[in-house]
Amino acid sequence: MIERAHKNNVKRIICIGTSHEDSLKAAEFAKEHSNTYWTYGIHPEGASSASIIFENTLNTSPVKPIAIGEVGLDYHYDGYDKTAQIHLLEQMLQLAIDNDLPVSFHVREAFDDFLGVVANFPKARGVVHSFSDSKKKLKKVLETTGFYIGVNGLATYSTLPLPPLERILLETDAPFLTPTPFRGIINEPAYVPCIAEWLSKKMGVSLETIEKETTRNAEKLFNFSDTVV
Ligand SMILES: [Zn+2]
Repeated sequence: MIERAHKNNVKRIICIGTSHEDSLKAAEFAKEHSNTYWTYGIHPEGASSASIIFENTLNTSPVKPIAIGEVGLDYHYDGYDKTAQIHLLEQMLQLAIDNDLPVSFHVREAFDDFLGVVANFPKARGVVHSFSDSKKKLKKVLETTGFYIGVNGLATYSTLPLPPLERILLETDAPFLTPTPFRGIINEPAYVPCIAEWLSKKMGVSLETIEKETTRNAEKLFNFSDTVV
């Protein structure tokens, strides 16, 4: 998978944690491969059973995480625990700020509460990954926060509103949301260039510009320690 990504000019891979356990697996992955990174996160759907063990994890891991996430609010499925989700998000935001790390946010059908929470953490920086809400909500996120917006394969087969290029990060969001023309198979980083190509056509900007700008945005946010050629 890494080789296929490199062949397609995707040179860095961030392996996203969505629970305490798989964050540790992501850390192992990042330790074993060059130009790969990991994040420490607990997905909002796991908020009610999340235990507060992450601070120790950050200090004892073989390599530091590149970001906190994914964390956030998700009110899509019945039975979600709003109080627990907000509480966990606040804790994770504080953890990110204490460690000077950016945050990968997962927000679904919960933008009003999300913007209310992050307003209390003005130092937080990050990306709202896989944005999938209205034009109005996008405008509000762009205007009231400095966050980047994660654009993935979903954009290639839907009518989602697009942020300006200076706020876009390209993302895989594997194994889901495989971009056109690879719909129906497992998504992986090698397909990220399909999103860049789609954006190039959609925005009327050269592919080279899309690649350069989105890479620069990612470098600004994540502060990668490795250099890639
Ligand atoms: Zn997510």
